[in-house]
Amino acid sequence: MSNVYIKTKIRSGSYAMEYLRKIRKKRILVVCDKFLAESGAISYITDALDSSNTVDIFDQAIPDPTIEVVGKGLSVICKVRPEIVISFGGGSAIDTAKGMIYFAGVRNLVPKPEFITIPTTSGTGSEVTSAAVITDSESKSKHLISSDDILADVAILDPRLTLSVPPSITANTGMDVLTHALEAYVANGSNVFSDALSEKAVELLIKALLQCYRDGKNLEARTLMHEASTLAGMAFNTAGLGLNHSIAHQLGGTFHIPHGLANAMLLDKVIDYNSVNHDIMNKYAGLAYKVRLVDMNEPPAMAVSAFKELIRALMRCMEMPSSIRELGISREAYEEQLQNMTDNALMDNCLAGNPREAGTEAIKKILLSIY
Ligand code: NAD
Repeated sequence: MSNVYIKTKIRSGSYAMEYLRKIRKKRILVVCDKFLAESGAISYITDALDSSNTVDIFDQAIPDPTIEVVGKGLSVICKVRPEIVISFGGGSAIDTAKGMIYFAGVRNLVPKPEFITIPTTSGTGSEVTSAAVITDSESKSKHLISSDDILADVAILDPRLTLSVPPSITANTGMDVLTHALEAYVANGSNVFSDALSEKAVELLIKALLQCYRDGKNLEARTLMHEASTLAGMAFNTAGLGLNHSIAHQLGGTFHIPHGLANAMLLDKVIDYNSVNHDIMNKYAGLAYKVRLVDMNEPPAMAVSAFKELIRALMRCMEMPSSIRELGISREAYEEQLQNMTDNALMDNCLAGNPREAGTEAIKKILLSIY
């Protein structure tokens, strides 16, 4: 049996923003971060909106949004009582808006607004997922809210918005896309639909990611990456994720390692862990054949090695750190958090999607292997 549920209307391309021009006489709340508000990027939205609308802006989203930030946003949504919420930014801004909508809905504080997502990074796929990742600064862990109520009604994919993303964020977010596609491909909930989405996402990423990194103004490559990101988001929203994300969430919650970078550092280790099971190894290999990383005649183990080499090569070419040590985190500080990160990874909602069971020892071993 395959479960697939697609709610979000996706408008992709340079004219996608035209959707906003048609909105009239609405109370609108835009959620973004300070950078997008102050750099002028926000005028993409404010200029597009008709003057008959009333527009408020909540610009307090921060990377890895916390419960406190969502709490602040909750009081704003209650005050404004918007008919439309537009989240504008990377995964952090989109998840902040989702958290606000979720808690306002659960507590019956405001009528459910129309929800429009406009991603400005090509990475999380949050514009089409029913998940929001919120950080608890006290326990240093990231919590996953999962509800169809936070699925966007409309996702606007305008690749021009990503032209200003600097190389290091292009690298991190791009590797997040690859992680989503790969984890979804082998996840317990994968099916023919999510497989097709992952395959296309990886195919586009192989074509475009390095071009985006080397020439951020290449609109054609940015378009492919923006679409790859949404495809991978749709894949994991259908199939689920796994061990990689359950550990990456703890690295982000504890040491504020950017989400995509944390995912990338873990990726080949998690592939190794999962590939002990030959069925899973064959599944990874199937993806490598599909995107023509290797010839169909090569044995599955070779195909999986080619995938791991692709990951390492991408990271090298994009000058990404490949170990925790390179981030300036001391071994002592890392080991001090080892048990807490392991305990939180075991409780992370993504873990259940992993095709091979992973317990305390396996998680600790993987965490130590990336130091
Ligand atoms: P981000 O939203 O944290 O943004 C990273 C940085 O990029 C910020 O400083 C931001 O201001 C800047 N930025 C954003 N757009 C820009 C642009 N166009 N030009 C220049 N700078 C720009 O990064 P992200 O990787 O998009 O999101 C990460 C967050 O998303 C994490 O909290 C992660 O846990 C979460 N996440 C959510 C889902 C989901 O389905 N809800 C999936 C994966 C990750």
